[in-house]
Amino acid sequence: MGSQEVSESQDAQGTPDTEASWKGLRVTVAGLGVSGVSAARALAGLGAVVTVVDGGSGPALEARAAELAGAGVAVRLGDAATLPEGTDLVVTSPGWKPDSPLFAAAAAAGVDVIGDVEVAWRLRGPGAAPWLAVTGTNGKTTTTRMLASILSAAGLRTAAVGNIGTPIVDVILEDRAARASEGTDGRSAGEPYDVLAVELSSYQLHWAPSLRAHSAAVLNLAPDHLDWHGSMEAYAADKGRIYEGNQVACVYNAADARTEDLVRAADVEEGCRAIGFTLGTPAPSQLGVVEGILVDRAFVPDRQKQAQELAEVSDVQPPAPHNIANALAAAALARAFGVAPAAVRDGLRAFRPDAHRIEHVADVAGVAYVDDSKATNTHAAEASLAAYESIVWIAGGLAKGATFDELVAASAKRLRGAVLIGADRALIREALARHAPEVPVVDLDRTDTGAMAEAVRQAARLATPGDTVLMAPACASMDMFTNYNQRGDAFAEAVRELGASA
Ligand code: ADP
Repeated sequence: MGSQEVSESQDAQGTPDTEASWKGLRVTVAGLGVSGVSAARALAGLGAVVTVVDGGSGPALEARAAELAGAGVAVRLGDAATLPEGTDLVVTSPGWKPDSPLFAAAAAAGVDVIGDVEVAWRLRGPGAAPWLAVTGTNGKTTTTRMLASILSAAGLRTAAVGNIGTPIVDVILEDRAARASEGTDGRSAGEPYDVLAVELSSYQLHWAPSLRAHSAAVLNLAPDHLDWHGSMEAYAADKGRIYEGNQVACVYNAADARTEDLVRAADVEEGCRAIGFTLGTPAPSQLGVVEGILVDRAFVPDRQKQAQELAEVSDVQPPAPHNIANALAAAALARAFGVAPAAVRDGLRAFRPDAHRIEHVADVAGVAYVDDSKATNTHAAEASLAAYESIVWIAGGLAKGATFDELVAASAKRLRGAVLIGADRALIREALARHAPEVPVVDLDRTDTGAMAEAVRQAARLATPGDTVLMAPACASMDMFTNYNQRGDAFAEAVRELGASA
């Protein structure tokens, strides 16, 4: 595998992996965002000589640069392409594309490029908490948080980290400090972690060549971020990296053959098992669903004859099919770590989904309004459209190179109407014309701040009692909103106005 070759060559070049070896190292951090600032501070704290470079400029970045100066970090704004003289190592932020000129300059100078997750992994130190890792095109955050909830229910000290919450380098440094003070008479800042639930994006995996998880899951694989990775093969290879060196279990989706292919391609520790999850009856070495019960036929003494009951489908919130799949993946990782069945159930019951993920906002005049603003690609939108019978669909935004034929064809029979918003709405309108010509479509030709309120009013007009108005845009939000949170908030606000005037 090409990706492995990269990792070996980077390891062979001896990128620092102990605290002491960062001392005096000249590190260039690419990007003055949240992860860049965290990495810069951490590495300067370990004695590295750090320069952050960012192509942007302006007061916000300058203020951030001034703060970092106080921590001994130099910042160069307005030039993202030239490698600072004498750089030993580049630490990149996840958003930077692999073909960025800075990385070409690094390659030409024989300098390694790694990401924040790789820095965190190398800083863990001996005896650190193992990682249970989650990736996939959709469902990562939900599954990682479900997993953390299950691990907590088992009495383990854990956190959901990675592409989520506190920057992972900060969490690892805190954990190191906690372990260092354990057993001394000094006061510990906290207890060390027993295990971490780690969400990893394809970007982070791309830049994390030596990461080795205890166990890992790839939830699903659909085309996304292809502009970043260059091709579906490159995207899949980066996702598959999560399985490299797994010790106990590689968890795959039995309904998505590509995830199982990635397990087969991975080089794992001896004895590591391939564990599937399925919404159907599980085969041996799988977790699945039997008569409304989540069952484990993998981590039982006799998987040919036995299955262990874990939880009921109704213990999972929301109990939509794709979310049951997320729960099974989380359960598989927890079981691989030795968690008891009752803790799986308790953890799933305690879990509450994050905002803007199939969030029921209100019922108005017998119609349910659901905010799935986080459905920023077609694969996610298809999953949430599959969860309702009769839908008025609010969709559109930035398509990021996606096509909509498959999504519309799969969902056509559930659509009572569609309201289209945003820059790339014509692509969806054309797919609807091809695959669902009888579905009434409202095409909203406006992108001002009132557009969402009008979309909701139009959807209300198309809906009849018993329908669901589902905002699952299948597109990114940045053409009209700051992010998907703001888009979801605008939807909820519009629904409240609708309720008040009903
Ligand atoms: P991620 O962290 O991968 O972006 P989230 O857990 O935040 O995933 O969910 C994002 C969106 O993806 C949800 O709003 C939902 O529409 C959809 N989704 C969640 N889980 C799945 C899944 N297993 N398969 C397909 N779509 C999913």
